Amino acid sequence: MIAAPRRDLHLNPLARPLPILLAALLALLPSSPPRAADSVWRSAIEHGLELRRLVLADHGAFALQVAAAIAFSASHSNDAAHAHWRAALAAARDPGQRMYALQMLTENRTVAGDYDTAIELAGQLASLAREQSQSGYLARAVGQLGRIARRRGELQDALAYQQESLRIARAAGRMSDEALALVNIGTVLRDMGRFSEAMDHQLQALEIRKQLGRGSRVDVPYRNIGLLYREIEDPQSAREYLERAIEAARIEYDPSALSSALGSYATLLNDLGEATLALDTARQAMAIDARLGDKQGVALERLEAARALVTLKRWSEAAGEIEAAVQLGEQMRQSDVLGRALLYRGDLLAGQQQFAAAEQAYLRSLQYLTRAQLKPQLHAAYRAMEVLLETRGEVQEALRYARQRATLREELLGLTATRRLAVLELKQERERSERQVEMLRLDNSLKELNLRTEALRRRIGIGFIVTLFAVLGVVFWRLRDARRAARQLAAKNAEISAQDQALRAANARLTTQAEELFRAATTDPLTGLSNRGRVMQQMIDLFDRLRSEDGRLSLLLLDLDRFKPINDSMGHQFGDRVLIAAAQVLREEMRDGDPLGRYGGEEFIAALPGASADEASATAERLRLALQQRLGKLEGQPIELTASIGIAELRETRAPSLSALIAAADDALYRAKDLGRNRVEIARTASDRRKPG
Ligand code: GH3
Ligand code: MG
Ligand code: MG
Repeated sequence: MIAAPRRDLHLNPLARPLPILLAALLALLPSSPPRAADSVWRSAIEHGLELRRLVLADHGAFALQVAAAIAFSASHSNDAAHAHWRAALAAARDPGQRMYALQMLTENRTVAGDYDTAIELAGQLASLAREQSQSGYLARAVGQLGRIARRRGELQDALAYQQESLRIARAAGRMSDEALALVNIGTVLRDMGRFSEAMDHQLQALEIRKQLGRGSRVDVPYRNIGLLYREIEDPQSAREYLERAIEAARIEYDPSALSSALGSYATLLNDLGEATLALDTARQAMAIDARLGDKQGVALERLEAARALVTLKRWSEAAGEIEAAVQLGEQMRQSDVLGRALLYRGDLLAGQQQFAAAEQAYLRSLQYLTRAQLKPQLHAAYRAMEVLLETRGEVQEALRYARQRATLREELLGLTATRRLAVLELKQERERSERQVEMLRLDNSLKELNLRTEALRRRIGIGFIVTLFAVLGVVFWRLRDARRAARQLAAKNAEISAQDQALRAANARLTTQAEELFRAATTDPLTGLSNRGRVMQQMIDLFDRLRSEDGRLSLLLLDLDRFKPINDSMGHQFGDRVLIAAAQVLREEMRDGDPLGRYGGEEFIAALPGASADEASATAERLRLALQQRLGKLEGQPIELTASIGIAELRETRAPSLSALIAAADDALYRAKDLGRNRVEIARTASDRRKPG
């Protein structure tokens, strides 16, 4: 006589406010409720029957508290519901009731952002469920611990909990809990940047939930897949999936689902610059979350609204949203919310020329963003500090942030490219296996046809011998059949070769896309030269090879002289074009195939395998003169562009590592700068830098 509700009533009462409100009323009706086709009514009837069953089963106190708690949840009073769940727990008379009340309390506390209490409750639920061998409750309790760990940024723990939850659900054959764990694992993997695995888990969850049908929340995997597409900068697919998520949430009549889907959609719209629609969408989501008492939801929605308002230049409203979000973030101690809110606060203050206050906001934001590892926002915060310090003339400090930003930017570019590639591969893999299944199917029907043709022919032969004349008519008939079979055979063959062609085309497409992505990840976007990561990899290979062969290897480090004044007088964009032109000159003057790349802002690095320091020096002189002569004028503007070059040769310096060789070239470069610039200097030892004086 387990008295806890049997159906999925316990999964999430907040999910169905209207039906539950009706249910609470229906529970008190003496006669059978009406039959109705509408899903809201059907759901209401289910909840009502459940509650009435509880009352009739003589669990009065427990049932009344549950009814009250559900009614309060349905009317969006999370705290009032909390009191009744507590009372229900106290009134519970058997383990089933206790587990039910514990699960609801855990959910209630998580939604309220009271994570410490939620963890304690989930722990109690887990041990009771284990004692009672109730895998469903156990899987959900462990999953809940995972959700909280994720909200606190403890991703490894979160992943371990969710995998445990998945294992329990699978062992017990509970498909809905399995799908829930898959979704949660996918979300944690996404946070960890393990992209194609995340996509794979969400797709698996989507398949299961589609099978489970109505009420199984397909909106969640739809939304998560949309978010994954957003992160690999495929807004078209992102939009498609998020719109499906919203539609599914509306059909399910589930406000918390709807608000999550709307919230994610608002984020995407903000990315796309559709601020008016983004604001409207964020506000709809916020209204729902506020009624549900979902603080995290409200905080995130406020940030999206703020972003939209900033785009719309409605500053004071934006400020209001931001401050409210800061307060919520502080209440929940949630780093991602605080980091983003403080970043926006800084932007607003900087816009009003309040630089000291803006700096305060940015510095705090940086702390939280670093903790939450929100890399795109971190990039924005570095940029903001860089601009702020540059405005104040603190160039050294600004440069420090610029460097951090450049490193992060390269990482993010590489990351997006790798993720795109991974998702492409996943898609390709799926497409390929679908095609293989199709080929197999065709192959089978081909064999079947062959057999049929064979059999027909045999029968015709026998018939011919036995009754030559009598069966003439029949033979004629059969022959027609055989011919038809042969025609079908030809058609199937054509189909197979078409599939084969499509497969080959898909492979060719993947190869091209992979090549493009590789180029994007290894090229400096401004100058088109190899980026630092790429050129360093080439140098490492050369260094290792030539050192083991005791060969020669000269490095050139080239820094444009007094480049900052060009930026200052002609503007940064002109400076960019000078950099592009300088890169072009270097590319033309260098021998094809020798590594050449952008090392940093206006610094370039090149390697001359096989060249002695003196030969390298001749090349460097040529580069130096070419820059000076060919860039005396750009776009009709006379400019004074020269470069200083430092050279270091492997055998001569006896550098023990590539970085020591680069350091030697850097020392030589510094000497060239000290000796008046526009010249070439050669390092004679590996450790100039550490020598006294
Ligand atoms: P020095 O002769 O000592 O090398 O003087 P400098 O002005 O060239 O050197 P400094 O390191 O003081 O300044 C480098 C400048 O290069 C400052 C920075 O704004 C600029 N810079 C770095 N990257 C870029 C870029 O991508 N585009 C533009 N336009 N300027 C850049
Ligand atoms: Mg310079
Ligand atoms: Mg420099």
